[in-house]
Amino acid sequence: MKSTLDFAKSKDEQDPLKNFRDEFLFPTRANGKPLVYMAGNSLGLQPKKVQSYIQQELDDWATFAVEGHLKAKSKWYSYHELLTEPTARLVGAKPSEVVVMNTLSVNLHLLMVSFYRPTTKRFKILIEGTAFPSDQYAVDSQIRFHGFDPKTALIEAQPRAGERTLRTEDLVELIEKQGDEIALVLLGNVNYLTGQAFEVSTLAHAAHKKGCLFGLDLAHGAGNLELKLHDWEVDFATWCSYKYLNGGPGTLSGCFIHERHLGKRDLPRFEGWWGHNKIERFKMERRFDPMPTAEAWQLSNPPIFQMAALRASMELFDKATMPALRKKSVELTGYLEFLIKETLPSQKCQIITPHDPNQRGCQLSLSIKGNPRAISQTLLENGIVADAREPDIMRAAPAPLYCRFQDVYEFAQGLKNAIES
Ligand SMILES: *Cc1c(COP(=O)(O)O)cnc(C)c1O
Repeated sequence: MKSTLDFAKSKDEQDPLKNFRDEFLFPTRANGKPLVYMAGNSLGLQPKKVQSYIQQELDDWATFAVEGHLKAKSKWYSYHELLTEPTARLVGAKPSEVVVMNTLSVNLHLLMVSFYRPTTKRFKILIEGTAFPSDQYAVDSQIRFHGFDPKTALIEAQPRAGERTLRTEDLVELIEKQGDEIALVLLGNVNYLTGQAFEVSTLAHAAHKKGCLFGLDLAHGAGNLELKLHDWEVDFATWCSYKYLNGGPGTLSGCFIHERHLGKRDLPRFEGWWGHNKIERFKMERRFDPMPTAEAWQLSNPPIFQMAALRASMELFDKATMPALRKKSVELTGYLEFLIKETLPSQKCQIITPHDPNQRGCQLSLSIKGNPRAISQTLLENGIVADAREPDIMRAAPAPLYCRFQDVYEFAQGLKNAIES
């Protein structure tokens, strides 16, 4: 690897996924050049086809009105099913194990209704100490909802003194020691702040050995990591699709429920008509007959415009495939790591995300001496988007669908200039 623009450009030339960049709309700088966009972990870019996908539904609505449920080009009645197979491929699941519905925090609650069932002996939830605030609020309120106190019922795993990420062996030990009281282990994979990816199969196994359920928040994992949720025996997972999945601001969430939990009539669940057996849905019967798939958790008929936008992006993931994206991502982020270590003194900028590619996705979290907010502002003025997070962190996430080695190079140069100025 070399810290030169020529090297970065030659890597881009050889990149088999380079044409996917042309499928996206980039915000531009004053000089008309596209932004260097390292914020796909917050909001993915708009695929060019989104507009025509949504326009189709607007046209069908105008043409067919209520009849569109059955007469639209893609029937609205079963529209959500168009996302099932691509979603299953994306997260390593069987089609029966996934459904796209609602938004992420809502789904976290719906899934905890089923999979956080505390008893007086087993009532605790284990999360990572730097869990995303919405997840913290969700688990706190679930714990209180069941009559327990987060002070005693919530375990927040902390790194060792002087370290910023968690060690797998420490998490396993914690589960072995306290597992008899833990009802649910719920981890954010990738952790939004540190960029750490957890070793899921090891941790799920440790949790199950102690009789705990194992769930994942994949807001920063879906479209970023190669996932094998079924084989890893994860009990449930949920994610949003506006970050790496480019589904548009505030859009839908995906859910995974392992097949061992499907078709169980005694599993508690909040229910609605879209979870009812679809063959009989319009008989409007009084008794709820759940779908034998993850669709049993659906409440409402699906929001078509949002699904249309997400379809445009999921088609790109299907074309690129996660293994190929991940391969590029490991190189792209490896190059970012190389450049940061090469060009910046470690007293000024330290990478806190693990070095091992198996313990990270595309994001690197940097601990910045000085003022990360001011530095990200300076970057923005130079056409580079990367965000700052309390207390001292800057996050840069080169999404492999549309970021180039050249972008990574320009980011590292821009960061060096901003830190030194
Ligand atoms: C982005 C993110 C959320 C946001 O939740 P919404 O319900 O979609 O607003 C929640 N949890 C994690 C870990 C996130 O990264």
